[in-house]
Amino acid sequence: MSVNVSMAAIPVAVSEFIRGPHKLLIDGKWVAAASNKTFSTHNPANGSLLAEIAAADAADVDLAVDAARRAFDDGPWSRMTPAARAKLIWRLADALETHADEFAFIETLDNGKPLNDAKIVDLPHSIEVLRYFAGWCTKLNGESISISNPGTWHAYTMREPVGVVGSITPWNAPLMMAVSKIAPALAAGCTVVLKPAEQTPLTTLRLGQLILDVGFPEGVVNILTGFGDTAGAAMTAHPGIDKVTFTGSTDVGRIIIRAAANDFKRVTLELGGKTPVIVFPDADIDRAIEGAARSIFSNAGQICNAGSRLYAHRDVFEKLVDGVSRRASEFRVGPGLAASTQMGPVVSQEQLDRISGFIASGQNQGAELRVGGGRIGSEGYFIQPTVLTGTRPDMDVVQQEIFGPVLCAMSYEEADLDRIAREANATSYGLGAVLWTQNLSTAHKMAKKLKAGTVRVNGGGLDPALPFGGFKQSGWGRELGREGIEAYTELKSVAMAL
Ligand code: NAP
Ligand code: MG
Repeated sequence: MSVNVSMAAIPVAVSEFIRGPHKLLIDGKWVAAASNKTFSTHNPANGSLLAEIAAADAADVDLAVDAARRAFDDGPWSRMTPAARAKLIWRLADALETHADEFAFIETLDNGKPLNDAKIVDLPHSIEVLRYFAGWCTKLNGESISISNPGTWHAYTMREPVGVVGSITPWNAPLMMAVSKIAPALAAGCTVVLKPAEQTPLTTLRLGQLILDVGFPEGVVNILTGFGDTAGAAMTAHPGIDKVTFTGSTDVGRIIIRAAANDFKRVTLELGGKTPVIVFPDADIDRAIEGAARSIFSNAGQICNAGSRLYAHRDVFEKLVDGVSRRASEFRVGPGLAASTQMGPVVSQEQLDRISGFIASGQNQGAELRVGGGRIGSEGYFIQPTVLTGTRPDMDVVQQEIFGPVLCAMSYEEADLDRIAREANATSYGLGAVLWTQNLSTAHKMAKKLKAGTVRVNGGGLDPALPFGGFKQSGWGRELGREGIEAYTELKSVAMAL
């Protein structure tokens, strides 16, 4: 990492926004926390203070939930036609597109990710998610049902919004996560109380400004910045919230299930992953190398479905590991604002320590460091893209989500699909799996055997139309796609004796 790298100039609108003040969005107004408390958010590229942010707690949660309840129970949102809701959500997408560059800068400063990634991944995806769900407003129908009870019947189902939704998001893709929660909720006719992660609140706050600018009625979206164990816990326990949707760690997911059990809140959870990347000997090896490297090093590995376990046939294993290790050492690590950067810092000192701890534990348990493993510099939270070999299924680095740029590479002996699937399935997670093969039959057979919410063959990325979520301890329910909006509805059956 050179100190002389040329950095993108921060637009004036961005520095002005970051300066603040940063308050809570409650009932269409920006207000200080009832306690007047604040916390700070930092730039992971150098640890410097970015801004002071209002710290919500239970008192603010009460106010935000009241506002969301009013907007839902008897407010304009529940009375608005689906077409009018669609228009507003589409308008938010347009506003986000107009300000896309500004958002990309804010995301890079707050989260650390390369500006280019924010521009070509986070922003376009967020905009498309809004447009995709805007389209669903007018298509959320029930069906007529033929029933066999004696008599003449008219029976049908209808989908109603579930009510007030409490959404809690993580720091790895803050804007994308915020949008993925609010777009389907709003499209279904719900109102929202949203808490972004304490590490990265800024793009969600800027989104709140756009939500007011484009004319959402007050109380429809409320934003509470603050901490999980105060604001987040108060949300999950609040009787005025009908559904909780959460993306983050499996441990916090478990806490949320317990909190929601009190009054049987609806719950959607997108939790951790340990995605296997399985390479068959017939694969296009160069593409598999590139795909495997991107899958684990993009966003510094801070992606729930990062391909963190590589399983390659012994005939191609060395070539793959060499290739991915070469890509790892070529990856340009640096500040997100530098044009040349391909991998930014991780989000925090805590995350850096956690990743370093995993690498050390892997080595202690017998893994070999093929490349990387170390911190880069002493300023900011930079870590080298890392490849471990000699890893065994029982090691912590193979079982647990590291959430960093660390790949565990393992080989298998024969192309026995059941055995490969058994090994690939042998973690508590089940979010994703990636296959590299040119053999259609192998691909289809493996897709059936894998316990994963998403199976990708020879590449692929997120798409708003493709449901996303996990088997096993990777979560409950699905986001995106039809299932993603249906998760914000209750299904009502109506039967009339004619
Ligand atoms: P986390 O604690 O699960 O944070 C996610 C969100 O949950 C944040 O908004 C957090 O608030 C909130 N939260 C924390 N405790 C809560 C509680 N008791 N009740 C309600 N909400 C609560 O994740 P993390 O500690 O930031 O990261 C730790 C690990 O989680 C990572 O290393 C990674 O393995 C995993 N993770 C997974 C994903 C994913 O996409 N699946 C995303 C992020 C992290 P605050 O942080 O603001 O206090
Ligand atoms: Mg946290």
